[in-house]
Amino acid sequence: MSDGRRPQRSSRTVGRSTGARVRGDTIAAIATAAGRSAIAVVRMSGPDAERIARKVLTPYPTAARMLTRCAVHSAEDRTQVIDHALAVVFAAPASYTGETVIEVHTHGGTFVPRAVLDALIAAGARPALAGEFTERAVLNGKLDLVRAETIGELIDARTSTAHRSAVLALSGTLTRVYAALRDEALALDALIAFDIDFPEEDHGPVSRTQVEAAAQALADRLQTLIDSAPAAILGREGALVVLAGPPNAGKSTLLNALVGESRAIVSDEPGTTRDAIEVMLDGDPWPIRLVDTAGLRTSHDVVERLGIEVSERYLRSADIVILCAESDEEIDEAQARISETTRATILQVRTKIDLGGKVADARGVSALTGAGLGDLRRRIMAAITERAGVSAELSALAMSARQRSALEVAYAEVGAFLSAWRERSLPAPVAAAHLREATNALDHLIGAIDTDEVLARVFATFCVGK
Ligand code: GDP
Repeated sequence: MSDGRRPQRSSRTVGRSTGARVRGDTIAAIATAAGRSAIAVVRMSGPDAERIARKVLTPYPTAARMLTRCAVHSAEDRTQVIDHALAVVFAAPASYTGETVIEVHTHGGTFVPRAVLDALIAAGARPALAGEFTERAVLNGKLDLVRAETIGELIDARTSTAHRSAVLALSGTLTRVYAALRDEALALDALIAFDIDFPEEDHGPVSRTQVEAAAQALADRLQTLIDSAPAAILGREGALVVLAGPPNAGKSTLLNALVGESRAIVSDEPGTTRDAIEVMLDGDPWPIRLVDTAGLRTSHDVVERLGIEVSERYLRSADIVILCAESDEEIDEAQARISETTRATILQVRTKIDLGGKVADARGVSALTGAGLGDLRRRIMAAITERAGVSAELSALAMSARQRSALEVAYAEVGAFLSAWRERSLPAPVAAAHLREATNALDHLIGAIDTDEVLARVFATFCVGK
C-alpha cells in the first residue's frame, strides 16, 4: 500500500477464479463503457501511479485534485502523442481506493482510451481485474463491504426504485442496520457471560427472562429483514404483470395505453420478447414488467384452448394478472378458467367502457378514452404492495443474496440459542456458542472480517475499472 497503513496486506497473493491477484501493485483500467463517446476515463491506482504517470503525461498534474491539460504519449518517445487529455491526481490516502489514484480523461471511442491504457501498462501498470479498485477501497477502510456491494447495485439500477434503494444503502443506512444487529448479538453474548461468571445469582442482575427477551427481540429483527428480501427483489426487478382474457378483449390496446406516457424501459434481456411482448415500466412506487402474450403463442397452449389468451408459463410466474373482458359474464368465465393455474393476484378489468350501453364501475377501463386507467394503475400498485408485505420504502433495502444468506445463518443460530435457553437443554456456555456463530455471520456480513472468500464473491460480478 502506498500509504503503508495496512502493510500486512501488501504482499498477499490470492488465487481466485479471475486469476491470481496481487495486492499492492499499481493497476490501471478504462473506467467508462466501450463504444463511441465524447470522453472516456482511464484510471490508475497504486504506489507507482505517480512514477508511471510521469512517464506518459506531459506536464504531470502537480496541482492535487485539479484537472490539468496534458499530452499523453508513449513512455519511450514523448513525440508520439496519443491524445491531448485532462488528468487529475488524488494523492494517497485521499482517494477512492486509499492509494494514489490518477484519472486521465481522454477523448472517447474505442482506439484512444485503449492506446492510453496500453501506454500506462507499457510504463509499468498492470491491467486491473474486475472490481479491483473497489476491493482496494474496502481493504484500505475507505468503504465498508455492504456499501461496496451497493455500488454494483447502483450501476445496474434500471428503475427509480432500484436507484433509490442503492443510493440509500450507499449512504450507509444498510450498514448501520446490520452493524446494530451485530452489536445486539455481542451484547447478548456479554449478558450470558455475566450469567456464566455468576451462576449462583439466579435472581441477580441478569434474569433468564431478560436474556430470553433480548434474544427474541434480536431474532424478530433478523426475521423482519429476511422477510423484506423478496420485496427488495420486486423493487429491483419489477413485478410481473400479465394481461389475460378472451381474444379481442382489448389486451394489446390496454398494454399500449398503460405504457402510454409511462417511462418504458425496453427489456434488453435476450429471449424475453420471443413469445411475449414485455415492457418494463418505471412505476411509482413499484417497477413492473407488463406482459402481453396474446396471439404470439402456439395453439397447444392449454389456457388458450380454454378460450383465454395468455401463455401458461407467464400465468404461472405472474405476480399480478390483469383479467380483461368486455362483460361481467366473460370476466367470471375467464376467472374460473385461470384461477387453478395461477397464484397471482387477479385484477378484473371491464374493457371498452366507452362503447354504448355500458354502465361504468370501478373495474371499467377505456383504452381509447383513457377512462379508468389511473384507477387501474393504482389498483396494480396496491396489489403489489399487498403481495410484497412491506411498503416500497421498506423494500428499498438493497439486500444482496450474500447479505440475505448471512442474515439467515444469524437467525438460525439465534433460534438455536433461544430453544436451548428456554429448554435448558444445554449448559449456558454451550448455548452461548450459537450466539458467537451469529455474531460471526454478522461480522462477515459487514466485512468486519474480510476473508478472501467473501471479497471474491462480492467483486466477481463487478466490471473492470470499478
Ligand atoms: P386483444 O386481442 O385482447 O389484444 O385485443 P386488441 O387490443 O387487439 O383489441 C381488439 C379490438 O378492440 C381492436 O379493434 C381495438 O381497436 C378495440 N379496442 C380495444 N380497446 C378498446 C377500447 O377501449 N374502446 C374501444 N371502443 N375499442 C377498443
